[in-house]
Amino acid sequence: GEFAVTRRISILGATGSVGTSTLDLVERHPDRFRVEALTARRNVADLAEAARRTDARLAVIADEALLPDLEEALSGSSCRAAAGEDALAEAASGDADWVMAAIVGCAGLAPAMAAIDAGKTLALANKESLVTAGQLMMDRASERQVDILPVDSEHNAIFQCLGNRSCDDVARLILTASGGPFRTSTADEMSGMTPEQAVDHPNWSMGAKISVDSATMMNKGLELIEAHHLYGLPSEQIHIVVHPQSIVHSLVEFIDGSQLAQLGPSDMRIPIAHALAWPERMETPCERLDLTKVARLDFEAPDENRFPALRLARQALEADTSRPVVLNAANEEAVAAFLEGRIGFADIARLVEEALDGVEASAPASIDDVIALDQEARHFARDKIGEMV
Ligand code: NAD
Ligand code: MG
Repeated sequence: GEFAVTRRISILGATGSVGTSTLDLVERHPDRFRVEALTARRNVADLAEAARRTDARLAVIADEALLPDLEEALSGSSCRAAAGEDALAEAASGDADWVMAAIVGCAGLAPAMAAIDAGKTLALANKESLVTAGQLMMDRASERQVDILPVDSEHNAIFQCLGNRSCDDVARLILTASGGPFRTSTADEMSGMTPEQAVDHPNWSMGAKISVDSATMMNKGLELIEAHHLYGLPSEQIHIVVHPQSIVHSLVEFIDGSQLAQLGPSDMRIPIAHALAWPERMETPCERLDLTKVARLDFEAPDENRFPALRLARQALEADTSRPVVLNAANEEAVAAFLEGRIGFADIARLVEEALDGVEASAPASIDDVIALDQEARHFARDKIGEMV
């Protein structure tokens, strides 16, 4: 169908996996979307290229030292170059009415909050912002009457299954997990896995950090916390089921015993398109699901012994709101150290557990508190990593 209006959009993290998938869809429908702002951390060349292609008004590079490079790359175009934290917030709060939050990590929190404060519809891929500040974000979004559209495929599936209903008649949410590249590996085998093996996901092509999170299953732990904040259900009503084919993206079980699921091929452009067109629908070039070719769907219980990150994330959610901040910060530092070859695969969960035990804090009352605790937990984790190597 035809869109009633042109949607003005900004993409935070435009050079990443979710960001480029969003651009791909937007550029197929130039009549429906107008690009306002694009941002990236350090990738000046791709940022400038995308800004020129889409005729964006503003391009922001997070690393301020790269502003001269961005200005040069945009010279002669009508796109303005800017850099740094304030410029990121400007990209989130400027003229767009729809903002894609696709920065990876807690670094995406402040720009996502800026978008909410400015009353933008927020398409949220950046799960770490909800993990670290879910309560504060959801409260602010409801004050500002902002719609948060979940882009993470599981949460988008649940959003679709719920339709416009509230969670009053929901018995539980069932998050599916692919199990990652090490689903069938033993704990011994896993401890020797390299970064190359860990980022080689069987079903999805994603950024390096979330790929490692899928291998440890911390990704599903973060998604458990994300689901809690988005849908307001307690930990015991959010279940995890391993489903290696990644065809059923998640399910909702209602109080009468009925379960609704959303199915589709493993292509992030489908949940992104859902958020881009919402409350309408739009066409995508994605492959269609043929269940006769899929032939079978398997489901199994997750193994918290081989994947301790699942247990740690659930414990963090069930404790006070300081624990998910510590869990996430230690995980970000551990994953970065693992990708640099400084620590082993099994050290990731070990380090997260040490941080959860070692970094004490009260529940953060503001975004500034969250950011301060995030920094403190990162320092703790970096010190521990220093002792390990
Ligand atoms: P990615 O690493 O491919 O891209 C990250 C983007 O954020 C890049 O544009 C990068 O320049 C920018 N960025 C990184 N660090 C930054 C910083 N400190 N300040 C400002 N910008 C920064 O990541 P991705 O795989 O696209 O994931 C993005 C987010 O979406 C993550 O939170 C991830 O968990 C979530 N997500 C991704 C997928 C997927 O399929 N890739 C699926 C579900 C959810
Ligand atoms: Mg997901």
